Parts: sequence; C-alpha cells; structure tokens
Amino acid sequence: MKIAIVGSINADIVINVREFAAPNETVISEQDYVLSDGGKGANQAAAVAAAGAEASFIARIGDDELGNRAIANLVQAGVNCEFVSKTPHAATGLAAILVNRHGDNIISVAAGANAHLTAADISAAESSIAQADAIIVQLEVPLQAVEAAIRVARAHGVKVVLNPAPAPEAALTFLGDVDVLIPNESEARYLAALHGAEDASLENAARALLSAGARNVVVTLGADGCLLATAEGLRHIPPYPVEAVDTTGAGDVFCAFLTAALIRGAPLAAAVDEASAAAALSVTRPQARKHLPTAAEVMEFKT
Ligand code: ADP
Repeated sequence: MKIAIVGSINADIVINVREFAAPNETVISEQDYVLSDGGKGANQAAAVAAAGAEASFIARIGDDELGNRAIANLVQAGVNCEFVSKTPHAATGLAAILVNRHGDNIISVAAGANAHLTAADISAAESSIAQADAIIVQLEVPLQAVEAAIRVARAHGVKVVLNPAPAPEAALTFLGDVDVLIPNESEARYLAALHGAEDASLENAARALLSAGARNVVVTLGADGCLLATAEGLRHIPPYPVEAVDTTGAGDVFCAFLTAALIRGAPLAAAVDEASAAAALSVTRPQARKHLPTAAEVMEFKT
C-alpha cells in the first residue's frame, strides 16, 4: 500500500507572547521560541507513515539547515524523501507563528522553495505516483504542480484525494478529477459559492461541490465532526468526544488516515470513521507532528 503526497514543507517558528504587538511596536516573550516541523504536505506525509502506509513525498526545500532538519525528521518518521529536491537560491518555507495568551494566533508564511515546485518535478517523480494506490494533494504549492500530479495520477488509475487548503478557489477547475475532496467548513462554503451555490447552508454547499464534479466530499467540521456527501446522499458523522489540547494539524491527520483506510479497501464511511478517530486522538496531544497517532493506537482508541 503506497500513497504519494505532493505538497508543502515548512519550518514553523512559534513565539508565545502575552499580547500581540501593535504595528511598529515590539513585545518581548519570556519564553524560548519553539522550532517545529510543518507544511500541510509534510504533515500529511508523516501522518500517512504513522497510519501504516508507505509514504512517498514530492516537495522542494531550500539548500539550507532548516530544510535538512525537516527532511531528517520526515525520514525518521518513515517517509520516503527521494523526490524532495533542494532548490538553489531559495530558502526552505518558513511559517512565523505568534500565539497570545488567549490562544489566538497570527501567522505569516514565506513560501520559499515551496513556490518553486514545478510540473517538471512531478514528471521526474512520475514513477512514484504511478506506483501509488492514491495521491494526496493540497494547495500550498503552485497550481501547475498540483494539476500535473492529478494528471499523472489519473493517467495511471491512481485515486486522487484533494485537501483544498489554504486557497480553495484554485480547485474549481479540476474538481472533476478528484475522488475525495476534503475541505474544512469555510473552504467548502467558499468553493460552493464560487460554483454559484446561492443558499449558504452547509448541506447545499456539499451538494454544490458534488455537482461541480467531485465524486465524494467530506467536509471537516472541527469539534462538530464532519459531513459526508456522496451520490447516495448526505450524512453527518459525529466526532469522537475528546478533551482537545491542540487542534493544529487535525485536518492533516484526518486526510492521511482517510486515504490510508480507503486504499486498504475500506468503504468511504468506514474510512471517514477511521479518520475521525485518528484526528480526535491527535487533538488530545500537544504538538501533533511530534506525537502522531499510529494505526494500532487508533484501533485501540475506537474499541
Ligand atoms: P482543519 O484543521 O483542517 O480546519 P478541522 O478543524 O475541521 O480541520 O478538523 C479536522 C477533523 O479533526 C474534524 O473533522 C474532526 O474529525 C477532528 N477534530 C478536530 N477537532 C476536534 C475536537 N475538538 N474533538 C474531536 N475531533 C476533532
């Protein structure tokens, strides 16, 4: 069982402050900064490996220390990084994250090498996609790379899972090539409105995404679970009730475990259940990327 993940890889620098600085002001934090691994693509690749599938990651880093560190951590997590290229003259993607004492955040991302992922990189990694059972793509890398990956997957009969974050408008043109679309609530509403859905109810948004071409839609709803929309109809799936401590990356764990369950042959509803359990387990742990749930832990959690 193999999943190819095409997407972003970042270093995240997190500084906790009492209050955010106003423009042209400086605030000093009493705590050390935290350097952690991020980027939706890298998070999903690590979660695919934790889910027990073979993960092959296609991405770009800079020729720098942050990139080397990010790759070393992914390899240690069991991700094949043969198709992660180093980009001369570009820095590894970096997210600067400020968190205040209320838990609100302000995030700025320097895309760096992520912005240099091209259709040619996808061609170079064609064998890795062709041999996979599914690919997972998001929209934190250039559209031409995403489109190329979907084209190669389709040509080889490989399932396509699209998480249209963080810029869903780009996804409208290729929804017809997507087997499972996994937006969160705001992405689903936004995409549906672009497709011309007038009534803004979540159910109608999901129906609009099906009529826009996606074969199946799973809208994640945070602590409210998710909405599964297929040709058979709509179904709300309640969440696994947990005490959340850190919801960062829950959507990435969800996408990875859903895809892994699907390619093991689970029906979509069962794959959604597996993904809900894995994501719920992940929000009970601080620093999700460091403490990803494994397939065995998810099985135990469900029983
Ligand atoms: P994103 O982080 O991409 O916006 P969501 O916040 O919708 O994604 O979360 C993804 C999934 O994680 C949800 O559909 C749900 O299954 C699970 N999840 C998130 N927060 C909680 C929570 N507080 N309790 C239980 N499950 C949760």
